[in-house]
Amino acid sequence: MLEITDLHANVEGKEIIKGLNLKVNAGEVHAIMGPNGAGKSTLANIIAGKEEYEVSGGKMLLNGEDIEELAPEERAHKGIFLSFQYPVEIPGVTVTNFMKTAINETRKAQGLEEMPAKDMLKLIREKSEMLEIDRKFLSRSLNEGFSGGEKKRNEIFQMAMMQPKLAILDETDSGLDIDALRIVANGVNKLKSSDNAVVVITHYQRLLEYIVPDYVHVLYDGKIVKSGSKELALQLEEKGYDWIKEEINA
Ligand code: ADP
Ligand code: MG
Ligand code: MG
Repeated sequence: MLEITDLHANVEGKEIIKGLNLKVNAGEVHAIMGPNGAGKSTLANIIAGKEEYEVSGGKMLLNGEDIEELAPEERAHKGIFLSFQYPVEIPGVTVTNFMKTAINETRKAQGLEEMPAKDMLKLIREKSEMLEIDRKFLSRSLNEGFSGGEKKRNEIFQMAMMQPKLAILDETDSGLDIDALRIVANGVNKLKSSDNAVVVITHYQRLLEYIVPDYVHVLYDGKIVKSGSKELALQLEEKGYDWIKEEINA
C-alpha cells in the first residue's frame, strides 16, 4: 500500500527526514514511536502532502503510484486520511454537514454520484453509534468550543465515515481520558480490514494496549532506526530511547 524509500525532507531549509524507509501493507497496523522532535509529525504531514514540507530525495509510492506531485486533496481522494488535516473551526457548519460534504466531494473526485441521502443517514447512524457519539454532538458547529476529547472523537468519527485506505493518526492519544481512549481505539479496531492500513504515531505505549500493532518502528533523528513487534513498544516504555541511541552509535 505505502512504500517509502530513502526519503529526505526539509522544513524551512533544515533537513528533518534523513533517509527514511517504511513499507506498510494492506491489512496491517503500524505504530511509529520516537522521542520529541524526531520527525514523526513531519513524516505524517509529508505523506498527506502538506505544502510547507519540501521533499528533497527518495520515493513515496501509494499502491505503486508515485504520489509526490499530488496535492493534499488528491491524496485524500486516493484514500489517505491524516488526523487533524481539517480546519480547526468552522462556525455554522455542523459536524454532520461537514461530513456529508467531505464524502460527496471525495465521491465526485472518484467519478461517483452523490451518496443517496438515505445511505448517508444510515452511515452516520452506524458510525456515530459505533463511536458512542450522541445526536446533539452531530448538530454542533465543527470544532467550535470542542473540548480536547471531543475534538479527538470527532477526528475518529471523520475517519470512520471516510473509510480511508491509509489512516494516519498522529498523537491521537494525547489529551484523552481512558474512556475516550477506549472509544478511539475501538473505532480504529473496527475500521481495520484486509484492504486498509493504519499508522498510529504515538509518544506513549498506552494507546497500543488498545490498538495492537503488527509492527512497531522507532523514528529517531529523521530515520526509522529500529523495527519490531509490539514487544518493542513495551521495551521503549520501560527503558526510554537512550539505549536505541547507544545501539545506533555502537
Ligand atoms: P515529532 O512529531 O517527532 O515530535 P516533528 O516532526 O514535529 O517531531 O518535528 C521535527 C523537527 O522539525 C523539529 O525540530 C521541529 O522543530 C521541526 N519542524 C517541524 N515542523 C516544522 C515547521 N512547520 N516549521 C519549522 N520547523 C518545523
Ligand atoms: Mg509530533
Ligand atoms: Mg512536493
